[in-house]
Amino acid sequence: MNTAEIAIRAAAVERTGGCLCGKIRYRVMGDPRVHYCHCDMCRRATDSAFAALPSAGVSWPGKEPYFRRSSPLAKRGFCGEYGSPLTLACDAVVNEIALHVGTFDNPAELEPQYNYGSSQHLSWVRCGTDLPHLDTAERW
Ligand SMILES: [Zn+2]
Ligand SMILES: [Zn+2]
Repeated sequence: MNTAEIAIRAAAVERTGGCLCGKIRYRVMGDPRVHYCHCDMCRRATDSAFAALPSAGVSWPGKEPYFRRSSPLAKRGFCGEYGSPLTLACDAVVNEIALHVGTFDNPAELEPQYNYGSSQHLSWVRCGTDLPHLDTAERW
């Protein structure tokens, strides 16, 4: 298989997901870039020890999430009905939105490839410790 064939196959893959209550659904084409984020902002936004974020182009076939500014650096999207956190859009990264991996219909196929915000990694978190570690300069 050559590079062009691989690109066509990747583009043909459609993934879907949505919030817990089902009011908001999304579609993603291709293979998202998936990573763990250990930054304090993602921890607070997801109420979790870290976020696993696939970055991708996304379409909303029905209702869109509520998008609110969560910091001077980014906006986050969530279900306005029951509050499921769904997205992260950093101002510095144009035309890319990160989705919370747990909201995909099949999150098992989206394995994180690296860590981000590693200087804020909680010492008792054991996921992905063998993967590359990148730090974040984003603070506020
Ligand atoms: Zn919902
Ligand atoms: Zn983060």
